[in-house]
Amino acid sequence: MSEKYLGVRFKTIFKEDKRIEEERIEKLKFWGKKFADLNLAPKIEGGFAGNLSFRTHHGFIITTSGANLSELNDDDFVEVMNVDVSLKQIFVCGLKEPSSESFLHHAIYIKRQDINVVFHGHDKLTLKFNDMLNFPITKKEQPYGSKELVDEVVKILNMNCNYFLIKKHGFISLGKMIDEAGNNAIEQHKKAVELRDKNLQNAHYLQR
Ligand SMILES: [Zn+2]
Repeated sequence: MSEKYLGVRFKTIFKEDKRIEEERIEKLKFWGKKFADLNLAPKIEGGFAGNLSFRTHHGFIITTSGANLSELNDDDFVEVMNVDVSLKQIFVCGLKEPSSESFLHHAIYIKRQDINVVFHGHDKLTLKFNDMLNFPITKKEQPYGSKELVDEVVKILNMNCNYFLIKKHGFISLGKMIDEAGNNAIEQHKKAVELRDKNLQNAHYLQR
């Protein structure tokens, strides 16, 4: 769970240095703040533990590496145009480095053609109570930003579910529309909050 920011593990090639303009970016700003407020994307050293993206004609638009999710501004988005997995290169339009989990988002968009939105965050509660919640979860723990992690996630994508967990790491919430992916993450979070509160009540009752 202790995800420390270690920098981007691929080479970014800037095809065009320009600010990305797209209507839907406003919605990502909204959900970035929401995730930060609810601690679904907690603050970590060097940034926030979470990244948000949506599909475009050319590829996808994603939050930048180390972006302040609680206060995203217009420069905090890049458009990933192309990805070369074997050479570990990523071709973008934008002004900053894309999220270090861009390979993960890329793999999901390829595998799940029905999905247009990928939200990734770190919800401690859904991980903690997954024994009871039973979300699909990757089998093996892998370092974030690694090819091994992407491979683990791709295995789960075969199940066609829109919310799943990455072992000892976080969650992925998918949607056709932006609000769908955001609301989905919050809905699952609420289930975990209910379990936590019930547990606390039980502990209190036993103590009496
Ligand atoms: Zn993560």
